[in-house]
Amino acid sequence: MKNTSSTPEKQDYWVLSASGGKDSTALGLEWLRRHEQDPAGYPLDEVIYCDIGMEFPAMVEHIDRLEQIFTEAGIRFTRIKNPNSFEYYMFDYRKQRDNPNVPQIGHGWPTFRIRWCTSYLKTDLVSKYMNQLRLKYNVFQLIGLAADEGERIERRNNQEDGHIHPLMDWGWTEADCLKYCYDRGFDWGGLYEMFHRVSCWCCPLKSLEELRVLRKNFPDLWARLAEMDRRAWNSFKPRYSVDDLEVRFAFEEERIALGLSIKSREFFRLLSERLEREKREKGGDE
Ligand code: SF4
Repeated sequence: MKNTSSTPEKQDYWVLSASGGKDSTALGLEWLRRHEQDPAGYPLDEVIYCDIGMEFPAMVEHIDRLEQIFTEAGIRFTRIKNPNSFEYYMFDYRKQRDNPNVPQIGHGWPTFRIRWCTSYLKTDLVSKYMNQLRLKYNVFQLIGLAADEGERIERRNNQEDGHIHPLMDWGWTEADCLKYCYDRGFDWGGLYEMFHRVSCWCCPLKSLEELRVLRKNFPDLWARLAEMDRRAWNSFKPRYSVDDLEVRFAFEEERIALGLSIKSREFFRLLSERLEREKREKGGDE
């Protein structure tokens, strides 16, 4: 099973990377079950979880539950978290280098090209932690990539020395993982009924469909998103602020109630007029 060149003078050390999602949860629970029956065949020393601080409340509860399960089983559960928050980097971080195109303070919303949050709040911290472990141990990292996520395993960061993908070996697909979790009473408060992937609630890389779901089911988070967007120097989506999306989604609801299209040219023409009018009225208020 090992795919790394071990150093004989170092001890082996097995770490499970838990994201809190369905795949790593299924892997973690099943690996723990096997570990309890056969510790040598399924070694496990530590679970690591990286907390970005913008997870859905149901995900926060889910992680607390996992922590309790692993801790009670005698497995160390480590939470990695940047002492600075998402909002600090977004609004207050002072950039080192001058870039005439962007303000000096605050990264603003992440974009497809610049996902500062992934590196500052996750990958940099996890790499640093794993490198420290590697100084002492031969580290084997259990990764929850499902058997039908072939394209993700091709990525270089999923193929590092010491990475192990048991779900691939077991042939467990994403659907199998979700069913496994549901069968054991883990339902994330229904998040997987609403979203295919559960990521930060505030992510601007979400699709419009996911944002409709967020607005409908999490009005408090939607209101917080709009507040953050009003403070940001860049727009939430390239073509829409959160306030614009509010106008669009409300307009869509009106049209759907009347049995009218929300994809036609007419819809987009009327939407543009509405957005212009909203802007004028807001401008007049200031
Ligand atoms: S899910 Fe979105 S907001 Fe969260 S870390 Fe990833 S890119 Fe950033």
